Amino acid sequence: MFVRDPCGIVCIIVTYVAVFYADYVVVRWIVLHTMQDSLWCPFHIIAFNTVILLLLMAHLKAVCSDPGIVPLPQSRMDFSDIHVSGGSDDHESDEKDDWTVCTRCETYRPPRAHHCRICKRCIRKMDHHCPWINNCVGERNQKYFIQFLVYVGALAIYAIILVITSWIYDCPQCNNDIAVKQNRILHCVTLVLESGLFGMFVIAILIDQFQAILGDETAVERVQGIQQRYHKNTPRMFTLLSQVCGKSHPIFWLLPCHNPPRYSFRKDTYLIDHEV
Ligand SMILES: [Zn+2]
Ligand SMILES: [Zn+2]
Repeated sequence: MFVRDPCGIVCIIVTYVAVFYADYVVVRWIVLHTMQDSLWCPFHIIAFNTVILLLLMAHLKAVCSDPGIVPLPQSRMDFSDIHVSGGSDDHESDEKDDWTVCTRCETYRPPRAHHCRICKRCIRKMDHHCPWINNCVGERNQKYFIQFLVYVGALAIYAIILVITSWIYDCPQCNNDIAVKQNRILHCVTLVLESGLFGMFVIAILIDQFQAILGDETAVERVQGIQQRYHKNTPRMFTLLSQVCGKSHPIFWLLPCHNPPRYSFRKDTYLIDHEV
């Protein structure tokens, strides 16, 4: 699935440019410049690029994976009565259960699914539409979105630590030509500003995401003030986290692999099969 949203496409390009610029400055102007004779040089190059690889993998997964699109019925359903009665879109329920009707998609949708105006589809457990991944954050890709945030945060902190250490342990054998030094200062200042900006931004979103997961409430539900109890008893922290990150061992939660299981659509299947 690829959403044709100009803002989303610009944000993806900005992300890639920022990551590759950080890699260029760290490798060329920090590690190779100040640590070339020590074992820290290969260590930092490998470690920094491993974080970048994981970041790009998580980003690609978050961008390309299905966030949990509610399938459209194979044949049109008659929702004319709902359109006429002024039912806008959300929370139209003609059933006793929590399934609702989306008049834009003209389909039934499971509890906690919401319509995204940018994706033009209903997304299960939709949190928000994120331009940075040009996709919705929903049931099936929230894990990758969080991984992406964690790796951006880790990369930003790592870059700032490398800049600081490179200035503390300034090497005597380094090229101290004034033009080279000016270039290095310029790149390091830009990297610190970039890392600080992106780092604080992702840490703020991460805190928000964890509050939402542990409070068992998506951003959409918080904005709309839906106070629903999805569990009879408040589940434990581990249960709430494993709903997003999957049933695998927590060690694997930060690896951009293991797709979460697909959920069945009993009601949709029923409607599609029995449509007149
Ligand atoms: Zn919809
Ligand atoms: Zn969306």
